[in-house]
Amino acid sequence: MVRSPALPEGRTRAEKARRTLSIFGATGSIGRSTADVVLQHRDAFDVDVVTAQSRVEELAQTAIQLGARLAVIGDATLHETLRARLAGTGIAVAAGQKAIVEAASHPVDLVVAAIVGAAGLEPTLAAIEAGADIALANKECMVCAGALFNRRAAAASVRVLPVDSEHDAIFQSLEANNLHAVERITITASGGPFRTATLDEMRRATPEQALKHPRWAMGPKISIDSATMMNKGLELIEAHHLFDIESARLDVLVHAQSIVHGFVTYADGSVIAQLGAADMRIPISHCLNWPRRVLTATPRLDLASVGTLTFEKPDLERFPALVIARAALENGDWATNILNAANEVAVAAFLEGAIGFLEIAATVEAVLDRATATVGGTVFDTVETVLALDGEGRRLAAEQIEFRGRRAL
Ligand code: NDP
Ligand code: MG
Repeated sequence: MVRSPALPEGRTRAEKARRTLSIFGATGSIGRSTADVVLQHRDAFDVDVVTAQSRVEELAQTAIQLGARLAVIGDATLHETLRARLAGTGIAVAAGQKAIVEAASHPVDLVVAAIVGAAGLEPTLAAIEAGADIALANKECMVCAGALFNRRAAAASVRVLPVDSEHDAIFQSLEANNLHAVERITITASGGPFRTATLDEMRRATPEQALKHPRWAMGPKISIDSATMMNKGLELIEAHHLFDIESARLDVLVHAQSIVHGFVTYADGSVIAQLGAADMRIPISHCLNWPRRVLTATPRLDLASVGTLTFEKPDLERFPALVIARAALENGDWATNILNAANEVAVAAFLEGAIGFLEIAATVEAVLDRATATVGGTVFDTVETVLALDGEGRRLAAEQIEFRGRRAL
């Protein structure tokens, strides 16, 4: 049986007409789209906290625009700059990673988790602990913490509303009374900028080419993940945890147009899909306003002008990240944790020009092989263990990249 992430057992809290909201990662691609949705419905939301890592000017502007109560910058050296920029506005300021986690403990109705990478884990868990519902964009924090993330959410009776467009599509396609009759869940993939590229072209791909996504304008990390299709691998893992469905019943289908975002196949042969323009404000608006739907200024789908919808199977030879991620999912939480950590390091190395495009997946695979011998099978039930494992994945990835660099000399 499949689970609906938005309906935790024992949930009784009534929906309020006006909600308090915090945005973690407010200056990023998802953060900015969230601000846009909030600004379209100023009367529906009170913004409490907005955070960023280093884009201090953008953070200050967002805080003023949204009328936030507190702005937090992760880079502590920018504390004074932020204070000066917000002087006289009445908006409180704080700085440092600890301050971000502390701000996540503020009592609000909903926290938008839009920090990139495992760095989002501690704030998101703190928000869960404080009883906030989570609009989850930051898939890496679910991938690296696995079942622990769900246990914490269940213990706090909070909802986890999936912002990721494919998961929001599945969330919308699940019928609450027929979760037992779900046969398969399929998430679609655009195929990224190298969908039709040859292996040789991919081997020579530059960061600039890899960052150029054909459909979505996103932050650099997820853009590279989309190019390797590791993003879809992370999303398989995310779907497993969000909907409590095993790998064998989860499919990936390449759909270059990014119109059908995902679908559920039921036991009677019915297929329920969600369609929409490739605009993250659509799933964000759905999560922010759920269970209501509200008028949101987003592009409308015109299927007559689209004409034909195309689908194809992913090419697992050119996109091995999908195979590696699925194997990690089947190996358990320790493996998905290592996968995520190694991938974060490898993506950063590629963006810095230290490794080639195809070496991203190769690095992750090599790290997982090595980690099997040292930390394979590790079971974790504390955040400390999650972070220790993440640190080991990063260490092994850095070693692997250095090793590759030496071999190439
Ligand atoms: P961006 O890189 O555009 O934004 C990341 C945000 O996180 C920024 O606000 C950044 O601050 C902040 N940040 C970065 N590092 C840290 C850190 N160490 N500690 C605290 N804050 C940090 O990313 P996206 O918005 O594209 O993606 C955010 C998350 O949403 C990712 O997990 C991604 O996979 C997921 N997602 C994104 C989609 C998209 O369309 N963009 C779609 C689906 C999921 P600063 O600006 O100061 O650097
Ligand atoms: Mg997605």
